Amino acid sequence: MAVLPLTPGFGRKEKNMERKRLVEKDSPLKKDDRIVITGGGGFIGGNLALYFKEKGFSRLRAVDKKPLYEWYLRVPGVENLCLDLSREDHCHRACEGAAEVYQLAADMGGMGFIERFRVECLRSILINTHVIEAAYRAGVRRYFYSSSACAYNTTLQQDPNVRALKESDAYPAMAERGYGWEKLVSEIFCQEYWAERGIKTFIARFHNVYGPHGTWDGGREKAPAALSRKVIEAVDAGRKDIMIWGDGHQTRSFMYISDCVKGIDKITHCDGLIATPINLGSSELVTVNDLLSKIEKIAGVKLKRHYDLSAPRGVAGRNSDNTFIKKVLGWEPDTPLDKGLAVTYKWIKEQYHKRKMGQRVVE
Ligand code: NAD
Repeated sequence: MAVLPLTPGFGRKEKNMERKRLVEKDSPLKKDDRIVITGGGGFIGGNLALYFKEKGFSRLRAVDKKPLYEWYLRVPGVENLCLDLSREDHCHRACEGAAEVYQLAADMGGMGFIERFRVECLRSILINTHVIEAAYRAGVRRYFYSSSACAYNTTLQQDPNVRALKESDAYPAMAERGYGWEKLVSEIFCQEYWAERGIKTFIARFHNVYGPHGTWDGGREKAPAALSRKVIEAVDAGRKDIMIWGDGHQTRSFMYISDCVKGIDKITHCDGLIATPINLGSSELVTVNDLLSKIEKIAGVKLKRHYDLSAPRGVAGRNSDNTFIKKVLGWEPDTPLDKGLAVTYKWIKEQYHKRKMGQRVVE
């Protein structure tokens, strides 16, 4: 039986005040155990439902507040429930009979959204407080929480040539306004539910996730999808130029969706990671200019670049330090960006042309 600190990731002073909790072995997950994915109508939640379905799990429940026709993926055989998880009663219904809960519901989007709608982002605290309490009361064995690299101290991200962020860099805290602070507080909920109540919680800090079946238009999309769509639009309209947000020198890493869902599974089933925030991201750092060049290469075009310096651009640079995940899991997200982008670009192009032909698509 392992012994884990109750609030890992805090500073030395707080560590002295920590008590220890014994990690008791729980029964291994059976294929007919109930798995609940909240935010299952969204990008990562939908892909996670598909992942578990393909692994042979037969009692999956996906929950989202969007009407079903707006879900990115509706996986056959999965129980899909439309519930508003900012409501406590709906959370109890969502978690009924669950062995594991994967909490991916949030009001979020790309940089344009999280810089403009901080209140909406902060209000996701309602979802996180109610879902974890409902999961605890339902006797859930494992609880996964989707945190974000936006929880990291922003003062460490002011240069495009960043040092990759390691897990301890969240403290002393100076998270991204709105969205990042909400993530940090919700992480603490996970840590204290383990410390005080003994529910095994797992926390991954995602770094930009991209891939098919995600948002690609409408204002919530992230850079890989937004730039892919802009290139597709330019080609389709015979235009020779493109607008980029910021000066193009911002650096980021991007994780392909199949690495993300695999990582969620690995993290949630590793007792050494209970209540311990961990990076889940690619460490392949690129500038936004590099990202566009890769997409242009896939599309077979070269566009003249214009830079909108007044548009939201986020921090100057951000990368994932994967030392810890490699140490504990012997693995890290490793799909090359070129490979993942080729699949994503093709999928967005199909959606774009379907929509143009009047077919219903989810954006
Ligand atoms: P997404 O927007 O595609 O999915 C989130 C889903 O949550 C949406 O379908 C939305 O309808 C649902 N939702 C919002 N409010 C709800 C409510 N009150 N009740 C029920 N459902 C509600 O986003 P995603 O990219 O799949 O992100 C999933 C999680 O991962 C989120 O917590 C997000 O903050 C986190 N994350 C994502 C990224 C990324 O790059 N995609 C990066 C860091 C963290």
